[in-house]
Amino acid sequence: VSVKPIYSITPFSLLDFKDYTSCIIWFAGCNMKCLYCYNPEIVNGKGVYSFDSVLSFLDKRIGLLDGVVFSGGECTLHKELIPFIMKVKDRGFKVKIDTNGLKPAVVDQLIDAQLIDYVALDFKSLPEDFQKITYSSAFNQFEKTFDLLNGSSVPFEIRTTIHSSLISSKVLTKMVKYLEHKKYKNEYFLQPYKNGVEVLTELPRSHISEEYQRVSSLSFPISWR
Ligand code: SF4
Repeated sequence: VSVKPIYSITPFSLLDFKDYTSCIIWFAGCNMKCLYCYNPEIVNGKGVYSFDSVLSFLDKRIGLLDGVVFSGGECTLHKELIPFIMKVKDRGFKVKIDTNGLKPAVVDQLIDAQLIDYVALDFKSLPEDFQKITYSSAFNQFEKTFDLLNGSSVPFEIRTTIHSSLISSKVLTKMVKYLEHKKYKNEYFLQPYKNGVEVLTELPRSHISEEYQRVSSLSFPISWR
């Protein structure tokens, strides 16, 4: 039986992999169910493309694209991810992974084997709200992934989606303190929840007040995007 882990492919993007042209591979399935997830059809959906069909797509893009973004859903759930990334790297592409951090062992192997060029790691919330927002109780797994990346030389960013009824500006301040305590030094990206987009669970309107904009850090830049 051929496994089809990929839900869809975005053939070209200038925005998703800093400094590089890229395509985006969307993996079906996720080990979280974030209330504000923008990709319910990917998280709950079934894959359509096999790794082999993605590789034949990539063969035609050699020299035309710099990189490949592994997004989803959650790419680190797929057992054959590492051999697949090896094949992508063999073709000369840079690799970025988007991850919620629940699979530190996979990230550890990717770092060790020098298979990733960039990581975007979601920092969903602090432990007290983690279960409520993500339907996962594995904050400690996220933390392990964070520590691995922070102790490695792989470039990475932390990012958080902010919905005002899930993360208050006070909580955001605590999250910034957490990152400072961890000696995080890269940019911290905040993504305001987009009202009106279909998400996994119906949520009230989010309102990002000025208090949020005032949250800052002396240790790292904070950017809204
Ligand atoms: S937002 Fe949450 S549920 Fe949606 S893909 Fe990301 S980690 Fe999974």
